[in-house]
Amino acid sequence: MTKWVYSFGEGKAEGRSDLRNLLGGKGANLAEMANLGLPVPPGFTITTEACTYFYDHDSSYPPQLRDEVAKALAAIGTQVGKGFGDAENPLLVSVRSGARASMPGMMDTVLNLGLNDATVAGLARKTGNQRFAYDSYRRFITMYSDVVLGIEHAHFEEKLEDYKERHGHVLDTDLGAADWEKLIVDYKALVEKHLGRPFPQDPLAQLWGAIGAVFASWMNQRAITYRRLHQIPQEWGTAVNIQAMVFGNMGETSATGVAFTRNPSTGVNEIYGEFLVNAQGEDVVAGIRTPQDISEKARLAAGSDRPSLERLMPKAYGEFLAICGRLESHYRDMQDIEFTIEESRLWMLQTRSGKRTAKAALKIAVDLAEAGVISPSEAVLRIDPSSLDQLLHPTIDPKARRDVIASGLPASPGAATGEIVFTPDEAEALKAQGRAVILVRVETSPEDIHGMHAAEGILTTRGGMTSHAAVVARGMGKPCVSGAGGIRVDYAAETLTSGKVVLKKGEFITIDGSKGEVLRGRVDMLQPELSGDFARIMEWADGSRRLGVRANADTPADARTARQFGAEGIGLCRTEHMFFDEERIRAVREMILSEDEEGRRAALAKLLPVQRQDFVDLFEIMAGLPVTIRLLDPPLHEFLPHSDEEIAEVAAAMGATPERLKRRAAELHEFNPMLGFRGCRLAIAFPEIAEMQARAIFEAAVIAARKTGTPVVPEIMVPLIATRAEFDLVHASIKKMADAVIAESKVGIDYQVGTMIELPRAALRAADIAASAEFFSFGTNDLTQTVYGISRDDAASFLGTYTQKGILKIDPFVSLDQEGVGELVEIACERGRRTRPDIKLGICGEHGGDPASVGFCHEIGLDYVSCSPFRVPIARLSAAQAALGKVAGKEG
Ligand code: PEP
Ligand code: MG
Repeated sequence: MTKWVYSFGEGKAEGRSDLRNLLGGKGANLAEMANLGLPVPPGFTITTEACTYFYDHDSSYPPQLRDEVAKALAAIGTQVGKGFGDAENPLLVSVRSGARASMPGMMDTVLNLGLNDATVAGLARKTGNQRFAYDSYRRFITMYSDVVLGIEHAHFEEKLEDYKERHGHVLDTDLGAADWEKLIVDYKALVEKHLGRPFPQDPLAQLWGAIGAVFASWMNQRAITYRRLHQIPQEWGTAVNIQAMVFGNMGETSATGVAFTRNPSTGVNEIYGEFLVNAQGEDVVAGIRTPQDISEKARLAAGSDRPSLERLMPKAYGEFLAICGRLESHYRDMQDIEFTIEESRLWMLQTRSGKRTAKAALKIAVDLAEAGVISPSEAVLRIDPSSLDQLLHPTIDPKARRDVIASGLPASPGAATGEIVFTPDEAEALKAQGRAVILVRVETSPEDIHGMHAAEGILTTRGGMTSHAAVVARGMGKPCVSGAGGIRVDYAAETLTSGKVVLKKGEFITIDGSKGEVLRGRVDMLQPELSGDFARIMEWADGSRRLGVRANADTPADARTARQFGAEGIGLCRTEHMFFDEERIRAVREMILSEDEEGRRAALAKLLPVQRQDFVDLFEIMAGLPVTIRLLDPPLHEFLPHSDEEIAEVAAAMGATPERLKRRAAELHEFNPMLGFRGCRLAIAFPEIAEMQARAIFEAAVIAARKTGTPVVPEIMVPLIATRAEFDLVHASIKKMADAVIAESKVGIDYQVGTMIELPRAALRAADIAASAEFFSFGTNDLTQTVYGISRDDAASFLGTYTQKGILKIDPFVSLDQEGVGELVEIACERGRRTRPDIKLGICGEHGGDPASVGFCHEIGLDYVSCSPFRVPIARLSAAQAALGKVAGKEG
C-alpha cells in the first residue's frame, strides 16, 4: 500500500535526505535534520506522489490520505502538548510547498494555520501575550486569504497603511493587541465582501484548503514559467510540509532569520545572513522591514548601528553557529538555512544547498576540495557550466569616471548598462528590439521574472540580500543592486529620483552589482581576468576531459580571446567575415559585378594580400595549434548594397552606373537564400574564389612557419556539400593550389581538406564522402535548419510558442535536438568512420558551447567541439563533467 505521509520530530524521522523525489527538497532535509537530532519543530510531509495523484484524478486526494494526515497531526499535538482546534491550548501549523528542485518564491506558504476567533483567545491566554496572538491571527488571515482564497495581499496592506496613518503609527511593531483586534474585524469583513461567505473558522477546513492550494499552486503561471525556464518537468509535482509553528514574533527575545554558511556572493567561509527581532519568516524575505546582520563582523563591515544577533542573543547565536558547521559537514556543501528563535530557543526550519554566484561556487568548490571534504572531480561536477558566463561578464573599468547617484546592496555581481525601464513588459519589448535595459522596480515579485530575464541588470529600491530580486538575479547571473533606498521611483511619471537627479525612462544608467552602486549614464567596462579559483577548476576539468575544445574565431582579437580562455585551436574561421571590412568590400563588390572570369580574377588579386595577412595573423596567434578555415559560404548578394542611397554611393566609387549595380543585385536576388547560391556552390560556379582563398592560406602558412619556426598545418573546410562529387571538385582545385605554392616557395606544407556536414544528404552519404574528406565538422546550425525545415532567420516568430506549448522542450538552435538532428550526426560519424577509421570529427554550430550538447558530443565520441571564444570555458567544463559521468541533457 502506498504511504502518502511521512512524519518527523523528536530526533527521528520516517524520511531521509535521499528520498528527495518523494518528499521534495524541503521535506527530505527536514527529515534529515530531525534524524541528526537538531531542533526541528515536529511535522509531516505529504508526498509528491499525492500531488501527482491529485492531478491524475481530477483534483481529488487518495482515499487513505485523510486518515494518514489525521494521525500525523495528532502525533504532532502529542509531541508539543497542544491540540489542533483546541480552544484552550491550540496547536498551530505552517503549511509549505516543497518540490524536488528548489523553486524560490514560486510556491506559497501559510503560517499560523489553526487560528480562529476561539483559538486566538486561547493562544492569548495561554501565552499571556495578547499582542502576539492577535498579530499572528491577522497575519494568518492575510496569508490564507492571499494564497488559498485568492484575495490579494494589497487589499489588506491598504487597510493596514490606512489604519497606521489614522492612528499615527509608523512601524507594524508600533501596533498593540487592541489595534490588531480592530484590524482583524476589518479584515474579516473584507474577506466576506470578496467571497460572499465568512473567513473559514474550522481548523480542519483551513488545513485542507491550504493543502489544496499548495497542490494547485504547482500549476500557477509563476510556477509554470519557472519550470519552463529551468527545465523542470511538470510530472515531478510538489510535496506539502505541515509543521508545528514556532514563533519569532513572541517579543524581544524572539527572532527569525535566514543565513548562508558561507558568503553566497564571494564564497568566503563566514556566516552570512539577516534576521529580524519579533517577526515572522515572511517579513525577512518580503523586504517590508530592512533586516539586521547576523554576525558582528558583517554588521561592522556594513557600518550598521543596529545590533547583530551575535550581540543580541549570544547563546542562540553560538548554538546556531555550531549547527551551521554540523550541517555543512554533513551535506558537504554550503547551506542556506532558515531559523526561528522563540523566546531565546533556537529552531531550525529549513536547510538546503545554497544558491550562489558563479564566483562563490568556484571558491567554495575549490576550498572544499583543498580541505579534503570533496574530491577535485566532485568540485568539477559542482559547477554549473552555464553559470561561468557570469564571470565572463564585464566589470566597470576602475579608471572610468563614476557618477554615483545612489547606492544599495551588492546583490548580484557584474556591471551592466542600459536604458531605464520600469515594467517587466517594457523590458521584454525593448529587449526584443535588441536594446539593453535596466529594470528598475521598488521591489520585484515572481510576476516580474520575464522582465528580469530580458534586462541586462536589475535595480530595486527596497529589500535585502535575500529579497526576491537578489535571489533571482544571482540565479540568473544578472547584475543586481537591491535596496537602493535613496532612490524614489515614480511609476506613473516614469522617473527615478535620487537627491537632485531625476532620470526618465529611456535614459541610460549603469549598475555595479559587485559594489552596490548606481551610476548615471554609460560607463567603460573591463573584460574579466580568469585566474585563481577559476583557473584551478579549469585545470582539474582539463585533467578529466577527453573532448577537445576549439573556438570559432575570425579575427585576431577573437583568436587572442580564444587562447586566453584555453581554446586548443580554431574549429571554424568564417572567412566571409574578413570580406566585410570597409576597405575590402569594394574589391568584393568589383568581383561580384564583373561580367567575366578575367574581371573577377583581377578583383580577387586585390583581395589576396589582405586575406593572406589575415591568415598569417591567425596562424601566429595560434602558434602551431590547428586552425580550420572555411571557404566563402554566404550568398553573394549579401555583399551588395541595398538602399538606393547606398547603391548610388557605391556605384560612384566604383565607376559603375547605379542601374548596372541594381541589375546585378536583381540577378542575384533569391527567394530563399539559405537554400540558394551559397556554400560550396559558390566555389563550383566561380572556382577562382576558392583558388584565391586556398592560395592565401598556403602562402600564409609558409610565411607564419618561417616567422615562428613552428610548422602550420591548415585545415581547409568546404561548406554545405551534399555530394562527394562537389567535394572532389573543390578539393582538386585546393590541391592544385597547394602544389603550386609548394613549388614556388620550396617549402613542404602539411594540410588537410575536409568538409562541413550541414545537410541531411551529406550526413547520410558520409561513408562515400569520407573516402575523400579527411575530416568532418558538423555545422549543426544549418543541419538543424535543414532537418527541421525551420529557417534559422525566421524561427523566432513561432519557436517561442512551440516551447511554451511543450511541442519542443527547448529551442533546437540553442540546445541540440539529440533525438533527431543528433541521430543524423551519429549516423554520419558511424558511416564516416567505416570508410576512414581515423577521420577527425568535430562540431562548430552554436551547440558547441551548450552544456547538454557538449555532453552529447562526448557520448558519441567526437574529437572536439568548437564554440564562440567566450563559451570555451563552459565547453571545457561541460566536457569534463560528461567524462566524469554526468548524463547529457540532464541538469543537476
Ligand atoms: C553551421 O551551419 O552550423 C555553421 C557553423 O555555419 P554557419 O553558422 O556559418 O552557417
Ligand atoms: Mg552553416
